[in-house]
Amino acid sequence: MEFEAVIGLEVHVQIKTKSKMFSSCEYVYGQEPNTLTDPVVLALPGTLPVINKFAVRQAIKAGLIFGCKIADISKWDRKNYFYPDCPKNYQITQNDLPLCLGGHVEIELDGPSRNIMGVHKKIKLNRIHLEEDVGKLTHCGTDSLIDYNRAGVPLIEIVSEPDMHSAEEAFAYLNSLRMHLVYAGISDCDMEKGQMRCDANVSIRPVGQKELGTKVELKNLNSISGVRRGIEYEIRRQQSVIEKGGLIRQETMRWDAEAEVTTVMRNKETAHDYRYFTDPDLMPIKIPEQTKQEIAQTIPELPFVKQERFFATYGLPYTVTSVLCPNHELSDYFEDAVKLYDAPKIIANFVANDLLRESGTDDWSTVANKLPAKHLAELAQLIDKGTISKQVAKEVFIEMYKSGQSAGTLIKKLGLDQTTDDSELKSICQDVINNNPKAVNEFLSGKEPAINALKGQVMKATKGKANPQTIDKVLRQLLVK
Ligand code: ADP
Ligand code: MG
Repeated sequence: MEFEAVIGLEVHVQIKTKSKMFSSCEYVYGQEPNTLTDPVVLALPGTLPVINKFAVRQAIKAGLIFGCKIADISKWDRKNYFYPDCPKNYQITQNDLPLCLGGHVEIELDGPSRNIMGVHKKIKLNRIHLEEDVGKLTHCGTDSLIDYNRAGVPLIEIVSEPDMHSAEEAFAYLNSLRMHLVYAGISDCDMEKGQMRCDANVSIRPVGQKELGTKVELKNLNSISGVRRGIEYEIRRQQSVIEKGGLIRQETMRWDAEAEVTTVMRNKETAHDYRYFTDPDLMPIKIPEQTKQEIAQTIPELPFVKQERFFATYGLPYTVTSVLCPNHELSDYFEDAVKLYDAPKIIANFVANDLLRESGTDDWSTVANKLPAKHLAELAQLIDKGTISKQVAKEVFIEMYKSGQSAGTLIKKLGLDQTTDDSELKSICQDVINNNPKAVNEFLSGKEPAINALKGQVMKATKGKANPQTIDKVLRQLLVK
């Protein structure tokens, strides 16, 4: 029998904010444990939550990006459970009136038209809601340590429909989510820092069957590639259970990335009953049409749209647009340079290759300072004019990034201009070659250092004005002719 996999993902994403979801308590990543708390976070008696408006707006923004219907009225619910990561013994979340409903995430898969764009597909969303994070437990031996720094940090939970059918699609889905959320400045989505976490629901069914199979929920998927491997494994496992005549049980399983297997965490009988009810300490939120429109205005042109435009307007191939477009700053920088000098292909190649290589881990303000767009535009112009070759330009670019100087300045300083005195230098070099047959013969018979004698002669003739590198280049060109 042939099976089809069905996958739905629940993704938690930390919203980039200065303070927590329901208090003014500051949040920054990587601080000493339990230094970022306050009476609200620690749930001391008598404290009350206050909604972080910015977090709500960012969650609405995410909803608009993914084409969700934004609720007119949304409210807060308590999800009750007893565990030390949550001092209140309930987590504030949204159960029956989430902020965003429906929508979809556009994903890109490998495909035949990869030189322009991959194959695009829309994965349906169920909802996006806001909630607060809980503390982080670290188990060591028989002890457990708790850090409440993360408790109360705003999260959006993005719940997909069971609308994916392979680990590949789930992988592309997560990449697309991350690309859009980082691009719009909603989150940094760094999985290593816990800013993006994913639970995967996996089931299989015979091809052609409408009804969904029993799902297994996978937890502890700590990286995007971990998600892919965990799902691949789980699909294979379920298939072999069914092929052996067994039944899939509804379970929560843990992905063990080292052993590359899934193990049972809890079954249906031991599942939590969260006893959801409306939080009496928080008013529902009303979202007027005007607010939705205002937030929509802040959404930039999105990466896939930009990618198509870059192809249509600048004729850039997928290999370049797929590097430029997911990065807001990089693609803006590219367009700034193109506005100053219209050579999109040359400029795009420098940005996608040389700039990314040279800038390494530098943050964007450093990059834009060291190599303003106008310097790159000038470099492109000098290539077009034939002042320097593309090859030399690559060297110049490295110097430009190091020194912060413009292409023109560096070319003068390094004597790299190939249009000006090259012809004069050429005739001097030719004279030197004609007058020094011994050194020439030695060089041509393989004695490399013999060229130095010729260089010395040229230096003398030009009174040291010519650039040694250029002399070397011209001499070699004439000698091997
Ligand atoms: P639960 O009631 O167990 O929380 P939900 O219906 O709320 O389940 O769905 C949770 C997630 O599981 C969603 O992302 C959804 O797409 C996914 N899902 C639901 N049923 C299935 C299934 N049969 N196979 C795969 N994924 C599923
Ligand atoms: Mg559910």
